[in-house]
Amino acid sequence: MRLLIAMMKHETNTFSPVPTDLARFRAWGLHEGADVIRAYGATRMPVAAYLELARGAGAQAVTPLAAEAMPSGRVARDAYEYMAGRIVEAAAGCDGALLDLHGAMVAEHVDDGEGELLERLRGRAPGLPIAVTCDLHCNLTERMVQNSTALIGYKSYPHVDMYEVATQVGRIVLDAMHGRARPVMAWGNVPLLSQTLRQGTDDPPMRELIAAARAAEREPGIRAATVFGGFALADIADAGTSAIVVADGDAAPAARVRDRLLAQAWTAREEFVYRHEPLARAVARAKTLTDGPVVLLDHADNCGSGGTQDVMAVIAEVLRQGLDDVIVAAVWDPGAVAQMQQAGIGARVTIALGGKTDMPAIGLEGRPLAVTGTVRTLTDGEWIVRGPMYTGVKVQMGPTAVLDTGKMKIVVVSRHHEPWDQGVFTSVGLSPPHARYILLKSRIHYRAGFAPLAKATITLDGAGVTTSDNAILNYRRVRRPIYPLDRINEP
Ligand SMILES: [Zn+2]
Repeated sequence: MRLLIAMMKHETNTFSPVPTDLARFRAWGLHEGADVIRAYGATRMPVAAYLELARGAGAQAVTPLAAEAMPSGRVARDAYEYMAGRIVEAAAGCDGALLDLHGAMVAEHVDDGEGELLERLRGRAPGLPIAVTCDLHCNLTERMVQNSTALIGYKSYPHVDMYEVATQVGRIVLDAMHGRARPVMAWGNVPLLSQTLRQGTDDPPMRELIAAARAAEREPGIRAATVFGGFALADIADAGTSAIVVADGDAAPAARVRDRLLAQAWTAREEFVYRHEPLARAVARAKTLTDGPVVLLDHADNCGSGGTQDVMAVIAEVLRQGLDDVIVAAVWDPGAVAQMQQAGIGARVTIALGGKTDMPAIGLEGRPLAVTGTVRTLTDGEWIVRGPMYTGVKVQMGPTAVLDTGKMKIVVVSRHHEPWDQGVFTSVGLSPPHARYILLKSRIHYRAGFAPLAKATITLDGAGVTTSDNAILNYRRVRRPIYPLDRINEP
């Protein structure tokens, strides 16, 4: 038996000006052939779960490609065609496919990146059994469902269950291949554009929705039940909240569970909207907290959702109000790193930090901030994740420097990286448990590495293309009406 095992992942923020070419995939990870096993075999990624299933089934693993890029703008046409082409070519002669996708990939020429890939795969190998793992932030489409055998999503945000979820869906499809199961799927969506900041699975309403999905999986005949929060920053027709249920043999129970989950999501719609607090007031509130570490979230400039990671508004306000003992991860500014490398460790420098990227989609121009400090650390930016998310994966932040202003130590990187693991600090000699404030350009994923430390968490509403302010985002393609862009009361 030959099993096609592949990953092709990107969460596309259509408002982001950051280009997504093959070089960007290579920067985070683009592996082919035996390199796929070397890169991911010892991790807790879905590919590792699939490889383990293949071993257990005595199957030969065919690994044409495992590629992921940090979220950013539309995927370049040639990058999409290269990656999809590698996977589709490899399907010839395979008995089944186990895929790790995101479910919000938008290419220059294709809005539904995953649906297109799966349709091409089935075109090349009609009837091919296909298992698909998607991110919790998947924008599910009809084409994805029609061209897969069993599709499932993560039940955690931060995403710490990738391995388990991939094992679950892989087993369903292997059972189907051996005649032990007959997977049938029911899916649907509600007109709800839920905000990422309100999708953490430790908080209501996602916590209750995930609990309902887990309970449904214990019902007879149900093999998998998924609620997708969706990714509101991909402005495509299918963006938003959806559910998909895999049952064995009989579609009726799957449809019932789907309806129940979607009704519950719709009822909770108001809770999926983030409530704004003025930046200066939130920073002032943080300043009154004496028991650290306090986590401060610059969530509007989160590169983990396509942010440019160089908007300085929040850092400027924290400096202005004089908060002390702050560590920051991270500002993307390769030029600033080069300047600090040239100056050397211990040198006193003044840098026009960040603000190198314009964001035409939201009418925001990049504005650097003059920061004076001492170059504290210089590294190559490479380290391995030891925390619960992306465990075992090698992170490459590119040349990295720490700029120390006295009150604030800023990690400056050359490649976008969302700080979800303490390694972002420990790799440059900073100790998060001992800082009073940990300022992170993150939204929910920081919880994987930092929630156990945080005595308090304050969200700071800065600027950027991952804003939670819908008034700033100029939606064009998402289906209308949709809540909360339209104040509708019926799904
Ligand atoms: Zn996600």
